[in-house]
Amino acid sequence: MRSQAIELRDVHRRFEAGGTAVTALDGVTLAFPRGTFTAVMGPSGSGKSTLLHCAAGLDRPTSGSVRLGDTELTSLSERRLTLLRRDRIGFVFQAFNLLPSLTAAQNTALPLRLAGRRVPRARVPAALRQVGLADRSHHRPSQLSGGQQQRVALARALITRPEVLFADEPTGALDSRTGREVLTLLRALVDNEGTAIVMVTHDPVAASYADRVVFLVDGRVHGELAGGSAPEIAGRMASVEDAGRMARAEDAGRMARAEDAGRMARAEDAGRMARAEDVRAGAPEIAPLPEATPC
Ligand code: ADP
Ligand code: MG
Repeated sequence: MRSQAIELRDVHRRFEAGGTAVTALDGVTLAFPRGTFTAVMGPSGSGKSTLLHCAAGLDRPTSGSVRLGDTELTSLSERRLTLLRRDRIGFVFQAFNLLPSLTAAQNTALPLRLAGRRVPRARVPAALRQVGLADRSHHRPSQLSGGQQQRVALARALITRPEVLFADEPTGALDSRTGREVLTLLRALVDNEGTAIVMVTHDPVAASYADRVVFLVDGRVHGELAGGSAPEIAGRMASVEDAGRMARAEDAGRMARAEDAGRMARAEDAGRMARAEDVRAGAPEIAPLPEATPC
């Protein structure tokens, strides 16, 4: 077995929207080893979700390679990709995405049912027990707190025993105490089961549960921090945000300069043309100043 659960090489993802191209990922190379917990941080729009979607086979890179173990995802058909996601990958989102009419147990069993597999009797209670919800299996989402709902979502993600769990802001909708409960569960999953977790977060406290933090700026990896405390991560994040702002200011400066140069070139052209027309019309090169009129 390869030691890397997921490996991205030189991944680019460009979007065309309304005639303009956006480069969401600009040459990302990253490996996520088995049994490790990685947090991904970066300013809004830096490409975190796109990175997660490309790594999870939910989106296809414009170029580059994404491997899950020995499987190259970018060359798989849609059908193979769907099966691979169902069998080998788990997801947790900020909005728990539970089905409101199903109980906790039914929501948890859903991936196996969708796969047409008979649900082994002990599997669902075991998954709910793992997330501390054994006594809530007959409750519907509306009868559960936010933290409990996210734990059901986690049980649902774990029922297939995925190699990698992707989480996009999993604690974003939770208060800090229940957020911590979910993070403790994620940590235990990595330590006890050897699952690889890749989690996008804005929260330095959440990121401090990870083994390392990868920082993204404008679709590029902008350094990593291993074993950082929440204040260390917050400090690094502030400088990463500065780097993003500076890059954008530089871009804006470059564009302004280019626009100025363009305007000057056009003004010069216009001047040249006007002078050429004047010469053709036999007009004097410089018009005499009008007489000053006394007031
Ligand atoms: P983050 O999660 O870090 O906030 P995203 O990965 O969502 O950033 O987005 C990165 C960039 O790609 C942004 O500029 C965003 O507007 C753009 N983008 C993301 N998805 C799409 C899409 N489907 N179509 C067009 N542009 C997109
Ligand atoms: Mg996002």
